[in-house]
Amino acid sequence: MSDLLKRRFREQIKIMFGWEPVKPETISERAKEVHVLKRMTNKQDLQAAKAHQRAHQETSNKWRNRRWATLIFANLLFTLSFALDIQILEGALTASRFVGFHLIDLNSALQVMLAHKHIINNLLIGTGTVLVLWVLLGGRTFCSWVCPYHLLAEWAEKIHLFLAKKKLVTDQTMDRRLRTVFWIVFALLALLTGYTVYEAISPTGIVSRALIYGPGLAMLWVLALLFFEVFFSRRAWCRYACPIGLTYGVVGIISPVRIKYKLDGCFHEGDCRKVCLVPHVLDTVIKGRAVEPEVPIGPDCTRCGLCVDTCPTGSLSFEIKGLQKLL
Ligand code: SF4
Ligand code: SF4
Repeated sequence: MSDLLKRRFREQIKIMFGWEPVKPETISERAKEVHVLKRMTNKQDLQAAKAHQRAHQETSNKWRNRRWATLIFANLLFTLSFALDIQILEGALTASRFVGFHLIDLNSALQVMLAHKHIINNLLIGTGTVLVLWVLLGGRTFCSWVCPYHLLAEWAEKIHLFLAKKKLVTDQTMDRRLRTVFWIVFALLALLTGYTVYEAISPTGIVSRALIYGPGLAMLWVLALLFFEVFFSRRAWCRYACPIGLTYGVVGIISPVRIKYKLDGCFHEGDCRKVCLVPHVLDTVIKGRAVEPEVPIGPDCTRCGLCVDTCPTGSLSFEIKGLQKLL
């Protein structure tokens, strides 16, 4: 990895904690050449090529469909294991047992240990398994491929976008540093009160338990969140509040699974940023921003694949670091 990419990656970590992306001061000679070549290309050629490629790709929902199927399957496995008592995946997303292996959500384990003020050995084993799993699979991959609230929020987002198009609602953006503040507040609350306060309001846990044991009153809180996201602020919980997203983002820093951006074919029209839950990770697609001809996308990316499905030129793709690019 070049020094410029290393510097960019460090900046991406700061961006995950709430800093805003800025235009890079330096870009590599190779990237400069590509930027210049692209400026020389006839604009009409670009438009024609774009229309052509778009016609081919407009209907692609390949990654979205794979993701939805995985998410529904994972959550259904909890429900069926409980309903049919087949003991494949017992418990809920917060803490579970998969064919005998203990799995404990990293954020929940942290909250429990802070509340109890000591390291609980049994928790560490289950947490270790989950940590290795999500390091390998991509950190926030948990969000878009497993979290049941993500799917509900994705559907709510569609309603929000429809209403926004009709000019009936506008997206009220907030300061992204809020999420880091929430993370600290919930950690302190666990430490000071001895209760895992966050678990009581986590829509991830509430929806997961509702799917397994049936909905309770706590679902009203989830509905209120979805209402807020539809009418006031697009994807507000995941963007500005959820400590789980930040915890898994940190895990994703060392993950080999990531999205890669290739500068040369990109039209910079920004369709990818429009569909992305965390568009700040895609600042590199803005004209003149790519520091190298190929740039890995930062750890706050949920690896949802929406940008890959949307990009008309194939400039964004999944890859496993060190291996060939994925499909
Ligand atoms: S940010 Fe939180 S609620 Fe949103 S998808 Fe990730 S874990 Fe689920
Ligand atoms: S960069 Fe792409 S894969 Fe990552 S969260 Fe945004 S749309 Fe999803």
